[in-house]
Amino acid sequence: MAEAEEKARKEALCCRFQETVSDYLIRHQSILDIISKLQESSSRINRALVKSVTTCGCIKIKAQKQKLPEDISLSEMKEHIDSHFLGRICRECEDVLEEEMGKNLFYLAALCNLLNLNMEEVMNREMGRISTLGIFTLR
Ligand SMILES: [Zn+2]
Repeated sequence: MAEAEEKARKEALCCRFQETVSDYLIRHQSILDIISKLQESSSRINRALVKSVTTCGCIKIKAQKQKLPEDISLSEMKEHIDSHFLGRICRECEDVLEEEMGKNLFYLAALCNLLNLNMEEVMNREMGRISTLGIFTLR
């Protein structure tokens, strides 16, 4: 029962979000504005993350070639792949990242609205693909 209520709550949130975006998207209703703002907002997420490294310093990126043992299975691979991410994001950087991610979701919802797609359905279909393919999604 609680699981069904949680599912209904999430669906309602997704629908309400799409409706809110529809109500408040005024200036950028052109498909050209929506897709370019969606891409810009994605870049701003990356920029905020970079600033967390280079300006704040709360996190570090230490990247190198992945070192994977040759005899591991696909399911064991996850345990051996390095994220190259060190530290913990601070509250200030988290606020900036959340804001940028919110804008990204806004324009994704706007694109869904324009194309008459339901975000909840998009998410459910993707979850179905992930569940069906499991580790073979290779993402
Ligand atoms: Zn920070």
